[in-house]
Amino acid sequence: MLETRIVTLPMNVRFRGITERELMLVCGPNGWAEWSPFLDYAGSELRPWWLACREWAEGPRPVVQRDRVPVNCTIPAVGPDRAHAMAAASGCRTAKIKIAEPGQSEADDLARIEAVADALGEGGRVRVDANGAWSVDEAERRLVRLAREGLEYVEQPCLAVTDLAEVRRRLARRGVEVLIAADESIRRSDDPWRVVELEAADVAVLKVQPLGGVAACLELAERLPIPVVVSSALESSVGLAAGIALAAALPELPYACGLDTGRLLAADVTDDPLVAVGGEMPVRPVGVSEQRVRELAAAPERQEFWQARLMATMGAR
Ligand SMILES: [Mg+2]
Repeated sequence: MLETRIVTLPMNVRFRGITERELMLVCGPNGWAEWSPFLDYAGSELRPWWLACREWAEGPRPVVQRDRVPVNCTIPAVGPDRAHAMAAASGCRTAKIKIAEPGQSEADDLARIEAVADALGEGGRVRVDANGAWSVDEAERRLVRLAREGLEYVEQPCLAVTDLAEVRRRLARRGVEVLIAADESIRRSDDPWRVVELEAADVAVLKVQPLGGVAACLELAERLPIPVVVSSALESSVGLAAGIALAAALPELPYACGLDTGRLLAADVTDDPLVAVGGEMPVRPVGVSEQRVRELAAAPERQEFWQARLMATMGAR
């Protein structure tokens, strides 16, 4: 019988449509590991998250090349004043901004982008993430405008990989220079190689849990002909440690990583959370606080849900 804990972490801000993060901690010979597929993942999609958790709990750890990894701050779809304050307080030189939030306008996005660019100042880098919100036509129109902001890249402007490829072709034909990064097209796809075959992206976002673990990500990074960026899946510090280990193990790390997402959580399962200092995160183990885990324990019906979810995932082939 696996030793597990299921917790509900309150969040500081609404992100990815959620205001609290539920997750399971699983204890293995290496210590605690995190299993935290989002609630909109189901069935066979849960399997790689479980393989990643099991690898961290009991598998070999990667050989790291560095003891700190540069990270970006993550700016949710908040107003420009709050976005400015978050970017300024982060200490990071790179910011990733959520855009194309339902109910918000193009002007809202531009105001947020400009506020963050102002907060970062000279030499700061801004990337944006549309989470696949746009049609091809809408993406083309928006990206022609966004290209003037000097963005590092635009993540997942459209959801379908074929649409990403079409947007990229159209921008190239128009001579508009914006790099496209693929996230959902890598992590929620049966075949991440379609991104490469269709020349749909310039950058690939790698996330440890949805891609089946650190070793699987290292192998993908080695084989992909495009640079990679390591990002979190909004994990607790336990899950973030695996992302940091991946980033630390990559031979090349040309982009700041999206791993400073602990700040979006109002509570963590450790007394010593992994957060960036001066735009970098340390490569180190994370101890779990039993007291915090007790205080953050999920409601009984949510415990049952996660245990059943795990049984179904472990039994599935
Ligand atoms: Mg993304």
